[in-house]
Amino acid sequence: MQYLSTRGHAERKPFCAILLEGLAPDGGLYLPAHYPRIDDAALTRLRRAYHTQGYAELAFQILSLYIDDIPPADLHALCAKTYTAEVFGSGKIAELRHLEDGLWIQALSQGPTLAFKDMAMQLLGNLFEYELGRRGEQLNVLGATSGDTGSAAEYALRGKKGVRVFMTSPHGRMSAFQQAQMFSLQDENIHNIAIEGVFDDCQDIVKAVSGDLDFKRRYRIGAVNSINWARLLAQVVYYFAGYIQATESNAQPVRFAVPSGNFGNVCAGHVARMMGLPIAQLVVATNENDVLDEFLRTGVYRVRSAADTHETSSPSMDISKASNFERFVFDLLGRDGARVAALFGTALARAGRFDLSADAHFAEAAARYGLASGKSTHADRLETIRDTYRRHGVTLDPHTADGVKVARAHHGEATLPMIVLETALPIKFSETIVEALGHAPERPAQFVGIEDLPRRVQRLPADVQQVRAYIERHCAPSA
Ligand SMILES: *Cc1c(COP(=O)(O)O)cnc(C)c1O
Repeated sequence: MQYLSTRGHAERKPFCAILLEGLAPDGGLYLPAHYPRIDDAALTRLRRAYHTQGYAELAFQILSLYIDDIPPADLHALCAKTYTAEVFGSGKIAELRHLEDGLWIQALSQGPTLAFKDMAMQLLGNLFEYELGRRGEQLNVLGATSGDTGSAAEYALRGKKGVRVFMTSPHGRMSAFQQAQMFSLQDENIHNIAIEGVFDDCQDIVKAVSGDLDFKRRYRIGAVNSINWARLLAQVVYYFAGYIQATESNAQPVRFAVPSGNFGNVCAGHVARMMGLPIAQLVVATNENDVLDEFLRTGVYRVRSAADTHETSSPSMDISKASNFERFVFDLLGRDGARVAALFGTALARAGRFDLSADAHFAEAAARYGLASGKSTHADRLETIRDTYRRHGVTLDPHTADGVKVARAHHGEATLPMIVLETALPIKFSETIVEALGHAPERPAQFVGIEDLPRRVQRLPADVQQVRAYIERHCAPSA
């Protein structure tokens, strides 16, 4: 399988070439040259593989369709090492749990950091170690986090050979639980840098450091952000696992509702659907930052300013633009790279928006790609958490609650199963659960007392020079 850029750059590359890269040279995102089709017989084989050999085998079989530059035995070993009961809490990985009439929750947050990002990041960590080892190279991952991404990356890369992590976060601004999760890591290759500033300061510093191409090359700076194709590919697997659990035969379609920010999670659903998985509808659930809901309702895509980006109680969906959305638009426009470059390169840079409302392709988005959407607010979130707890005794995290709220609005009388993807466990966002229910959520045994563990974190002012100097002190430059 070869990969191409959404902005039309001519060069094609195999999987391992794009694994350690961020954006394509033309600023686009990588996608496979085509989506392998899963026909009825192939889906039956996947169903059998999942039932008899489990999630890791399903992952191997799906990944094999997209990766042909890692020997199958090695890829198999990487999947087997990633998707274990030890890492994901039980052998039942990505399990469906029934909530109410035809509505299911898919448990994706049993990994080490209690958010769905572990499902992809744990595989990415193993793929990085494998590929760097094969090349005899090293990589220094530099990132900025307001919570979930940074901890998922650190838990995936801790102790891995050839990789160091430098993760900036806004000092004192993450939840107590998130700080404890990250800062209690004692691994030598993990560097937490608490910046005296806000999340935007962290992002600006990361941009400035990686924007210095000479420094970037000398210190082999890389990233693990949400536009990485390998992360998206790993997420495709759980759509198959959800489908297989919800149905007994391949003739039955299902729907998914996905709490969304950067369009990464739901983009994996789009890929699964393009492969032929019978997904009747993909429901995009946003919070008050409704960039995606607005586009799907009106055809207008409008990047928000910092002042127009709300800080909400589902903070991992607080985005000003949806980084992965370009991938969907590429498919929507018949894979016209020149048009995508004009929209995402030129129009967004100039006007911060583009309008596809009069485009025939946009009119097809619902019917042809099954996309639907809805928005959930703070009040909706609290009400959904309360109502679900009262009726079912289940505590939802605030992001998953956004998904359930929007799923219920689309579920109606419909007979097709609706699967809501659970994106985090409530313990990560305890403050909002207390506000909704009057008591804190249950804490998994292995996290009792993590706030009291010794911490490994370096506090620095919001100053690019000091962050650069810190990185220089902690890794040797390449020759
Ligand atoms: C990252 C995240 C999301 C948003 O996922 P995208 O792939 O960016 O759409 C939603 N909920 C939680 C808890 C997250 O960590």
